Amino acid sequence: MPHTLDPELRRALAERVRYCHEMGIYDFYRRESTTLHEIPSANQPELREEMSPKKIAVTPAIAGNNLAAIAPYPEHGAADTASALKLIREDLGDCTRCKLHQQGRKQIVFGVGNPRAELMFVGEGPGADEDAQGEPFVGRAGQLLNNMIKAMGLRREDVYIANIVKCRPPGNRQPERDECETCSPFLMRQIAAIKPKAIVALGATAAKNLLAINAPMTELRGRWYDFKPAAGDPSWPGSRLAVTYHPAFLLRDPRQKGEAWKDLQMVMKHLGIEPPKKPAEEAR
Ligand code: SF4
Repeated sequence: MPHTLDPELRRALAERVRYCHEMGIYDFYRRESTTLHEIPSANQPELREEMSPKKIAVTPAIAGNNLAAIAPYPEHGAADTASALKLIREDLGDCTRCKLHQQGRKQIVFGVGNPRAELMFVGEGPGADEDAQGEPFVGRAGQLLNNMIKAMGLRREDVYIANIVKCRPPGNRQPERDECETCSPFLMRQIAAIKPKAIVALGATAAKNLLAINAPMTELRGRWYDFKPAAGDPSWPGSRLAVTYHPAFLLRDPRQKGEAWKDLQMVMKHLGIEPPKKPAEEAR
């Protein structure tokens, strides 16, 4: 296979990439040619196994021809993470890329926290309180998340918190697949800029979107996944991702708080955080 592109093809490709960037599309996928008989059926168990996060990590296509050099992300080359996040927010703009922009959102909820956080929490999408205040996890579920963070011996300001979609789905419904696929590239760029050591996916929707694994929570929890978005710095090894229950679920079923605490203890161990002598009761 040739390693350089014909100049005319390269020019046409650059035009196409620029057009995609204007549309907010930054991630490109290499699809290997696959004949029909090679496609495993969806219920074959090995399919899930094959979709380990490392294997599903998005890869800029035609990497050998340095596509990123043709049209890099706006935040590449930013002086620091805070500036990179600002550039991503500016690029998002007054986003109308998916239908959630016209379904009653008051504002875009970009994400909040320490740009140099070692730990990042990712939820599903903003609710009514978040939509009103422009910040993720500020309602009752947010209060419980704050307590969980405190029980870990951290402060809310120490971590970074974001969602798969940045606009409130009407009636607090789950975000739909096309909405997640349109919005999540911006979350991937936030993760790539922050480079957290650990990410906690809050709930099944966040986990399934981040990992591209369709499995119940009982299977998703209790283990680590390697995670690195395509936009990530090549010298960055990536994050480790754990899954736990969404705080809103824990409010509905407090019996599961003990299980969530086990997940957080696993994260604390990875981050080298000493278990508090007396964990906050409210997070358990
Ligand atoms: S959910 Fe994301 S992609 Fe959709 S309109 Fe809001 S910011 Fe844009």
